Amino acid sequence: MQTDVLIIGAGMAGLTAAARLAERGHDCLVVERDLFPGGLTATLSCKAVESCVRCNACLVEDALADLSRPGRVGFRYRARLLSCRRTEEGGYLARIENAPGRLDPDLCTDCGLCAEQCPVRAVRRSGVPAFGPRYGLDAGICLYFKGQPCRVCLDACPSGAIRLDAPSEEETVEARAVIVAVGARPFDPALKPRYGYSRLTDVVSGLDLEGMLRERGRVLRPSDGRPPDRIAFIQCVGSRDRKLGRDYCSRVCCGYALRLARLIRFRRPETEVSMFYMDLQTFGRDFDRFEQRAREAVEMIRGVPGEIEAGPDGALAVPFMDDADGARRVRFFDLVVLSVGLGGPEAGLAPELDLSTDEDGFLTGDPETGLFVAGAAGGPLNAAESRAQAEGAAALAAEYLEGR
Ligand SMILES: Cc1cc2nc3c(=O)[nH]c(=O)nc-3n(C[C@H](O)[C@H](O)[C@H](O)COP(=O)(O)OP(=O)(O)OC[C@H]3O[C@@H](n4cnc5c(N)ncnc54)[C@H](O)[C@@H]3O)c2cc1C
Repeated sequence: MQTDVLIIGAGMAGLTAAARLAERGHDCLVVERDLFPGGLTATLSCKAVESCVRCNACLVEDALADLSRPGRVGFRYRARLLSCRRTEEGGYLARIENAPGRLDPDLCTDCGLCAEQCPVRAVRRSGVPAFGPRYGLDAGICLYFKGQPCRVCLDACPSGAIRLDAPSEEETVEARAVIVAVGARPFDPALKPRYGYSRLTDVVSGLDLEGMLRERGRVLRPSDGRPPDRIAFIQCVGSRDRKLGRDYCSRVCCGYALRLARLIRFRRPETEVSMFYMDLQTFGRDFDRFEQRAREAVEMIRGVPGEIEAGPDGALAVPFMDDADGARRVRFFDLVVLSVGLGGPEAGLAPELDLSTDEDGFLTGDPETGLFVAGAAGGPLNAAESRAQAEGAAALAAEYLEGR
């Protein structure tokens, strides 16, 4: 097929770029590897307390609503970019492998029985079910695709909507320009072993907490399913860390952690919330006022924790040097949340593309050749900033297409 712009990634940035280009009369094809649109933003929790705290989690629904009118934007979900190279004529030629939707949308009644009964949670619900399919099957997790004889979802589905044997198809796409909107990668907290992620059950990441609040609306300890009375947030996990080669601020963590902390106290006021931090980064309008309110709800401890250990009665022991007086202390918590930062996208996206990376691993395009980078793939940004940045990238791509 032919299109004006091939957009890789259907997160906040890819969706925004597609909407803006369509408004200017350009066709786009958005290629997304996941089952659903929305990217990371679709996994975030709304953090409103008495009123909206402008966390941006709902922005992705606005971006999708912009695209809900049928028109110039096509989507491929479960799609893998096999290659993408510049042609002699100055355009791009991409090969894409499209895995089939395993749930037939004409037959699926959204009953959710397949998701409920799947033993490995391979059937997932979309983070933005108002747009597109509500359920999808992740073949990367599904036991059937790992060669095991599991057919639980087939047996559970009352309407015969599941198609495990449908084949993948390859497609060639010619585009005049490419926008890479593959997002940033959340830091894997297991790479900071002293904090105990994957060693201690009740140490979770900021992303895990976002998911918990989004899906269940409240915080429960993974170990015993009970609400934790004492929660610690540890800031800058995978950011401002020279030893890890990540000597930069991820920009989003102070904002999301303070908002989550406030939300937790709002929903369950008896919860004590402490936050270990080095420096609070204040981005955005009103942040100072917001920070002040958050400080009223959260105990702020300036200091970097050491090795977290299992403590008495299922608690977690968090040792730290208190910056206030230089004393070594240990505090006990029921749940520890690691505020993970953002890193550059995975390497290996279409090596034939002339993408370069900056010193922190984020992508830079080459606008002269119609290759643009949008959103957090180009550097740590929150969802609103990703949207604004993608609007700029779309404007540049439109000018490129229009020969300006
Ligand atoms: C723990 C955490 C909490 C956060 N909380 C907030 C918050 O409260 N407020 C806020 O504003 N921001 C928050 N952020 C930041 C926010 O998630 C990002 O700003 C936003 O997701 C960036 O949008 P994006 O479209 O650039 O990237 P993404 O949302 O990451 O979207 C990229 C898309 O590209 C797809 N993709 C990747 N590689 C490929 C490929 N090779 N082929 C096809 N598709 C591909 C991905 O599947 C994804 O759908 C948080 C981030 C983290 C980690």
